[in-house]
Amino acid sequence: MERFTRRTLKACTRKSRELRLAYEYAVLALRSLVYNSAVGEDYLLELLFQPVYCLVDAVVPWFGKALVVTVALLTLSVVLTMYGVVYPSVLPRAGPWGTALHLGYGHWNLALISFHYYKAVSTNPGQPTQGSYDRAEASLCKKCLRCRPPRAHHCRVCCRCVLKMDHHCYWMDNCVGHFNHRYFLSFCVSMTLGCVYCSATTWDLVTLGGDPAPADASDLPDASDLPRLDPFRRNFLVYVWVMCSGVSVILGVLTLWHARLVTRGETSVERRLNERTRVHANARGQVYRNPYDHGPLGNWKLFLGVGHKRHWATRVLLPSSHLPAGDGALWNA
Ligand SMILES: [Zn+2]
Ligand SMILES: [Zn+2]
Repeated sequence: MERFTRRTLKACTRKSRELRLAYEYAVLALRSLVYNSAVGEDYLLELLFQPVYCLVDAVVPWFGKALVVTVALLTLSVVLTMYGVVYPSVLPRAGPWGTALHLGYGHWNLALISFHYYKAVSTNPGQPTQGSYDRAEASLCKKCLRCRPPRAHHCRVCCRCVLKMDHHCYWMDNCVGHFNHRYFLSFCVSMTLGCVYCSATTWDLVTLGGDPAPADASDLPDASDLPRLDPFRRNFLVYVWVMCSGVSVILGVLTLWHARLVTRGETSVERRLNERTRVHANARGQVYRNPYDHGPLGNWKLFLGVGHKRHWATRVLLPSSHLPAGDGALWNA
């Protein structure tokens, strides 16, 4: 009996060793088939999220276009309310100079908003072309598997590398890069100013229930001569005031952030990369200097394309479609 038990135990041990060996062979065979030196935590995480990325990629083209239409419709609704409700209530009390100021500023601001938004949406931000840059400074895009010049980065929404890429703007359904960066920021500035103007103009009407407060009662027409607003129109006033106040705060913060980046001569992508390089340089006791920083004024002149004093008026205060300095591929760092 004891002999039988010993023999059985030996057979079980041999069998389990064979099974373990077979399992190890199977794991080794599988690993040899799927091994990749690039596999790491990041890779596995990306692999795990691939279905989500595919879904986003499928939805974004429609989502982006819907957002562009939304921006256009919201802007149109505010413009129509200004023409239909705000100006008829405000202008009769503003006097000739006030009327000229309101109409002059309002239309100038509207022209800047429309022009820069259209240009930001419709202008190609620029893609690297082979041979257009110094190969010694080029880096390899792991997604496109192609070389790209300094400052160019890959946009995973557009599935391409973009020259001097700043970010992908869903509200414009376009990447913000070398050729439309100025349009983007000019739109942000003009839209913020426009919202502040609409919000300030409607404030009196909203707080006084549709009757603007006279600045100087002596030289204004009698209040009974002016049209009073019905509740339906007052609702439009509240809508314009709430929306413009909200947008002016949110867009104002975004605009200030981008203005700060331009002052420092860096893009949103470079901001992150430069910060990391700066920390590493500091740890080694070195000082990192952004090679594309030409000083605050120099950076703004380069960004706005101002090469002469008159350009501040013709290229900044008025709509202008001049091209940015350089081709976005070669940089004088
Ligand atoms: Zn790429
Ligand atoms: Zn993009």
